[in-house]
Amino acid sequence: MSSLRIAQVRATTVAMPLEAPLRHSNGAHWGYFVRTIVEVEATNGLVGLGEMGGGGQSAEQAILALQPYLVGHDPANLEALRFMIANPTASLYNNRTQLLAAIEFACLDLLGQDTGLPVHDLLGGQVREEVEFASYLFYRYPGRDGTGEVRTIDQLVDEARRLKEQHGFRVHKLKAGVFDTDFELEGYRALAEAFPDDRFRYDPNGALSTEDSIRFAHAIEDLPNDYLEDPVYSLTGMRRVRENTRVPLATNTVVVNFEQLAANVLNPAVDVILLDTTFWGGIRPCIRAGGICEAFSLGVAVHSSGELGIQLATMLHLGAVLPNLTFAADAHYHHLLDDVVVGGLRPYTDGKMAVPTEPGLGVQLDRDKVAQYAELYRELGPYPYDRDPSRPDWYPLLPNSSFADHTDDQLPPALADLYARWP
Ligand SMILES: [Mg+2]
Repeated sequence: MSSLRIAQVRATTVAMPLEAPLRHSNGAHWGYFVRTIVEVEATNGLVGLGEMGGGGQSAEQAILALQPYLVGHDPANLEALRFMIANPTASLYNNRTQLLAAIEFACLDLLGQDTGLPVHDLLGGQVREEVEFASYLFYRYPGRDGTGEVRTIDQLVDEARRLKEQHGFRVHKLKAGVFDTDFELEGYRALAEAFPDDRFRYDPNGALSTEDSIRFAHAIEDLPNDYLEDPVYSLTGMRRVRENTRVPLATNTVVVNFEQLAANVLNPAVDVILLDTTFWGGIRPCIRAGGICEAFSLGVAVHSSGELGIQLATMLHLGAVLPNLTFAADAHYHHLLDDVVVGGLRPYTDGKMAVPTEPGLGVQLDRDKVAQYAELYRELGPYPYDRDPSRPDWYPLLPNSSFADHTDDQLPPALADLYARWP
């Protein structure tokens, strides 16, 4: 038991501009991320930081609604917190796993600050001082200044070259499932040809049929693939693909909790489990899942659900303590134009980031930046993550049968409208 008690919870929603809108199989991030910054203040005045978001909406009200559960609670008592606010049967009515994650980050940050230890020391101690990242390549609509589009194969290769030169990436992940699969295959192979010493991963967010997934896997078997990520949606679909390819399969979609991990151990469908500190309900469950993967010789990697500096710190502390992390982590981070933490955007060196060594998560809020981007959120409001600006009436089936047109070079009217009202 620590002497700390939670006194108050605060939540602030911010809109953080991206270089350009990021396209994915369900729609797009429309030129900015909406993230909710969580502050958990202890009775001694220390403030722990958390973060959540990803779907384009504010989570402010949902976080504030937890206040009655949290006030007076010892932030060291994290296991109890899991059952207080995210008991799996109670949560059938209100899935709070992601909220729990944001609170866990803040409690760990509080404990670290209180003891003078970085979070990775509270979690077993670091086995590495820096974490390697993959260039997360997206098809992109043009940004507000008209630049940054990634649509053609030449643009895709140029974007990978830009990110490699800027940040030193040696691993490239293509977020796909946007265009026709054969066109994306051509782009993926062009990347492998342009960077013969690098490694690659393809992730269409489960948009392909099982048969197209198998066909795609066969067509890339000669390349230096880390893995094929969620080509098809469902454990059974992944199992059928796995039975028909030598390319390892990865998921952040169909193994995102312990029930699914157990199912995958008993009847393997996926080789590499992408651990997401938000999806799994915190850093600690990711470490537990990593231990299970170690015991059963499954691979692990660190997933990105779109992060500002606070969530990025959780990914770095996780990466620091996982002994079996043999893959580069994912991050949306290099698509951001700014950050809300002191010091601004955290740099990559040779494709890697240093793990924070300061007490707690090792990041502090830049209050001016928080105010600036909270104001931007008030101006712009939420965005529909699962809508494509160029096709307002479209929604994808699974498997998807209607991909975007890669020859369409027009700025969607919905984005032009957004840019026109952007302050
Ligand atoms: Mg994925």
